[in-house]
Amino acid sequence: MFDLQKIIRKNIKSLVAYSSARDEFSGEANVFLDANENSLGSPLPKWYNRYPDPHQRALKQQISRVKGIASEHIFLGNGSDECIDLLYRCFCEPGKDNVIICPPTYGMYEVSANINDVAVRKAPLLPDFQLNLAHIETLIDAHTKIIWICSPNNPTGNSLNRNDIEMVLNNFDGIVAIDEAYINFAQQKSFIQELADYPNLVVLQTFSKAWGLAALRLGMAFASIEILETLNKVKPPYNINQATQDLAMQALEEVGQVNDMIKEIVHMRNALAGVLMQIPTVSKVYDSDANFLLVKIKDARQVYEFLLTKGIVLRDRSNVQLCEDCIRITIGTEQENTVLVDALAEWLDIQIAK
Ligand SMILES: *Cc1c(COP(=O)(O)O)cnc(C)c1O
Repeated sequence: MFDLQKIIRKNIKSLVAYSSARDEFSGEANVFLDANENSLGSPLPKWYNRYPDPHQRALKQQISRVKGIASEHIFLGNGSDECIDLLYRCFCEPGKDNVIICPPTYGMYEVSANINDVAVRKAPLLPDFQLNLAHIETLIDAHTKIIWICSPNNPTGNSLNRNDIEMVLNNFDGIVAIDEAYINFAQQKSFIQELADYPNLVVLQTFSKAWGLAALRLGMAFASIEILETLNKVKPPYNINQATQDLAMQALEEVGQVNDMIKEIVHMRNALAGVLMQIPTVSKVYDSDANFLLVKIKDARQVYEFLLTKGIVLRDRSNVQLCEDCIRITIGTEQENTVLVDALAEWLDIQIAK
């Protein structure tokens, strides 16, 4: 049985959270002399002289509306990367606890573990890039606090089987963190509506990919009220700045535009996959549920370097286990995709001429 109280670090359990000026006062007032701000204003619009809402209430209400999830189940981080780090700091005792990751996957789970001195156990994905449940099971012990599941997975692009994820959720007594950074591009449905069924579930999403707002640094964690209480105790009081809160609110008014972009990107992804498959040195274009393609190509490293000379940057994954000879290609604009395909044709001509 999952018991949250048993997995929270002792020092965090007994932690008294910092109480900011804007926390201590709640009510009606119009003379704010409590936070040592510059009361005269700033060179920018006038409200930027004030500390932002530490609980981001207005923004969470908007997200709640768009996602169909109650505000109490939403936590906001300075990018998903902050949410990842906070999960370690809340639940993993440095030098003692461990987590499980399923490589090849997003690099931050391991980097953040190393920063926090938490051991990483690896259950590599199967050759079809699905979870190896039997292997995961053998790695779990009393000190295993988090299992990281990235779906759709980066860099492979595929969604993980829902039944497998449910198996982990049902049988693991620690936190199951499902990173859905690419969910907007996927056929698969999100796990955010399943919070009531799984007290150990944390779903991560982000404004960095489909929403097109990587520069704002805004990530979301969806979980039980109890899990989020713990994250809220540990987060920096003003982790989401006012400019980000304002701009994200504005963006959330444009759901239609974002949905149109998602459709266009998925369409271009499928078209680009078709074109890449025609290239004789491409042996595989993996099915993608994300806004990128993983492509197995002869001499991947050299292709990567040739494209660099053309001013085109891909992600070289050729020395990543299970991704041998692979490059990861983010879907660009129609024009950028054409530039890429033309450069690949040029590369091929050079090879044939040799
Ligand atoms: C890009 C990406 C993120 C996004 O992180 P942010 O800090 O929100 O920009 C998270 N997880 C995965 C798997 C990603 O690929």
